[in-house]
Amino acid sequence: MTEVLFRRGLLAALPSLRRSPRTPFRQLPIGSNRAAVRLRNYSTISPPVENGKNDAKNLPATYFHNPDTSVRKPSARWSALKTAKPFSEFLTDTFDRQHDYLRISITERCNLRCVYCMPEEGVELSPPARLLTSPEIVYLSSLFVSQGVTKIRLTGGEPTVRKDIVPLMQSIGGLRRNGLRELCLTTNGISLHRKLDAMVEAGLTGINLSLDTLDPFQFQIMTRRKGFDAVMKSIDRVLELNKLGAGIKLKVNCVVMRGINDREIIPFVELGRESPIEVRFIEYMPFDGNRWNEKKMLSYQEMLAVIREKYPTLEKVVGHKNDTSKTYQVPGFEGRVGFITSMTHNFCGTCNRLRITSDGNLKVCLFGNAEVSLRDIIRKANNGEPIDEATMNELQLLEAADSAARIKEEGGVVNERERELLDVIGMAVKRKKAKHAGMGELKNLKNRPMILIGG
Ligand code: SF4
Repeated sequence: MTEVLFRRGLLAALPSLRRSPRTPFRQLPIGSNRAAVRLRNYSTISPPVENGKNDAKNLPATYFHNPDTSVRKPSARWSALKTAKPFSEFLTDTFDRQHDYLRISITERCNLRCVYCMPEEGVELSPPARLLTSPEIVYLSSLFVSQGVTKIRLTGGEPTVRKDIVPLMQSIGGLRRNGLRELCLTTNGISLHRKLDAMVEAGLTGINLSLDTLDPFQFQIMTRRKGFDAVMKSIDRVLELNKLGAGIKLKVNCVVMRGINDREIIPFVELGRESPIEVRFIEYMPFDGNRWNEKKMLSYQEMLAVIREKYPTLEKVVGHKNDTSKTYQVPGFEGRVGFITSMTHNFCGTCNRLRITSDGNLKVCLFGNAEVSLRDIIRKANNGEPIDEATMNELQLLEAADSAARIKEEGGVVNERERELLDVIGMAVKRKKAKHAGMGELKNLKNRPMILIGG
């Protein structure tokens, strides 16, 4: 009943949910147990859309199978148990870490110029033809999901500046029927409020919003742009939708730099007094061109001490094994506080993350400079040229990615192209190091600027 009321409220808030044609994404009661509901919605796939251009908005939902629903379905729990597969060998590294979380950068562009992320002089952007097209992004997502990836996060640059982000999310959201459980976004929030409702409709489940100051003037200094009010508008809209049952996990990420925004630690903690916001303080990390300096870095212990001075009852919250943050809560506050301690306490031992850059390189570690091009392998089928939707259909690439078996168990059904991709991915994953280099080495490591990695 509560779910129905939530959904009614959400429908009222999202008129497009009522108007738009039925899609597989929309079927899910937003905020419900999506994994379980996914198993009940096979029969609602939209018909294929034709004559689309190189744009995810026209990617047909028929990329995904439509099993016969005439027979009575077993319980969701039983189906999940029956279809459970061993985790892919290709995504398992030599330390037995299973990589079920993929972060895909979908643009190099950004509408801000944050001091720790973008070098002051800007970065040289790749020519458009070198960047992954939307069909290529969906193809890679599908291949990774076929191997056991359950969480995809879209990053950038600033992902919301990509014009077709909503249709792209709809296509990736459709992979829920293949096992995807979470579709997340990392954003600076500047234009999020304009696209948020449509994104929720497309299946968005989590947002990490980067915000380093609560002072509009300081915001302009730190981001070299205006836009504080727009960010707050986005946060408010997420909270509003959550009140209606949207169930979006919201985390506000704040990079703390000594002498710049460290005096704002307490105001950030207090954001959670009445709102269910998790603020995560991030230790300042070195990337190309961000003028990192150890003295500017405030350690987790220092930040914790600042908070404990004001809130001595701050208590630790038990987290999940793959969490990148250590989480705390002030008793009585609705929100939580987390710390991402990349510099002082690495969390590499439980790392489950892989990254794809917007120019199609697989990066197995944020702080490693080893990369392999997946784009070049995919494009072999098209003489090295970008693959648009028509070519994707013609080559039946998505069908192949969708059904790519986990070879160990279903040997022989993966075709040559997917096999080559999986081999290259598997080799890169096997070369992943146990942990990133220490602080001293990291600052001298040649790596992409943060804006070109995708966080
Ligand atoms: S530094 Fe590399 S290995 Fe460690 S948590 Fe980050 S991505 Fe994973």
